[in-house]
Amino acid sequence: MIITEQKDLSEILESLEPFRNIFITGCGECAAACKTGGEEEVRQMSETLKHNGFNVTGTTVIDEACHVLLTKRVYREHAKEIGESDCVLVMSCGAGVQATALVLDIPAIPALNSLFLGDTLRFGQFEEYCSMCGQCVLATTGGICPVTRCPKGLLNGPCGGVDNNGMCEVDRTRKCAWVEIYERLKKTGRVERLRRIVPPRDFSRARHPSRRDIRKTENA
Ligand code: SF4
Ligand code: SF4
Repeated sequence: MIITEQKDLSEILESLEPFRNIFITGCGECAAACKTGGEEEVRQMSETLKHNGFNVTGTTVIDEACHVLLTKRVYREHAKEIGESDCVLVMSCGAGVQATALVLDIPAIPALNSLFLGDTLRFGQFEEYCSMCGQCVLATTGGICPVTRCPKGLLNGPCGGVDNNGMCEVDRTRKCAWVEIYERLKKTGRVERLRRIVPPRDFSRARHPSRRDIRKTENA
């Protein structure tokens, strides 16, 4: 899930300064789960903007705001309100904002900051576990990602900075990712895997922006 936080209201109001008529779009997936862009947050934002002198022309929460075709269809259903709007305030991750920018001729203004791809530990608590590097090594690291969870992104660790308690030199409150990997592999009887040197990553495969047409794979 893409973890998001709402921008400071002052930043949102500054971005909306040149406009008066605002349409608000939320996202029913990640932003709703993060409580940054679901039905309730869109309703609250609508009240806040009205309170600050804006005219809210309409609101919607798209099931997946990053789905371009779906976004296009939803905006078609709101053609009248969109036609009366100077811009759309999008309460979703950056991908959702760009989907709106792609399908509409009026500005798409972000209300959220996209933080990371995260796992939900418990309600409202998220942890970054994957940086989407494009070359997953979890098979050899006991299902613990060194690219994301080691601050140095070491593929062969640990570095010399791990202390006697197994904590990371970069953040003493966190266990060294490579100590965790070692313990996990030991527990599952696969610690021998650590004898293999993992070759450097091919950074050309991690280039951005990336575009994949997975239909080719499905039809192969
Ligand atoms: S190695 Fe880590 S960053 Fe790369 S794909 Fe796997 S989990 Fe994600
Ligand atoms: S102590 Fe461990 S987690 Fe911290 S930087 Fe070194 S290898 Fe990475």
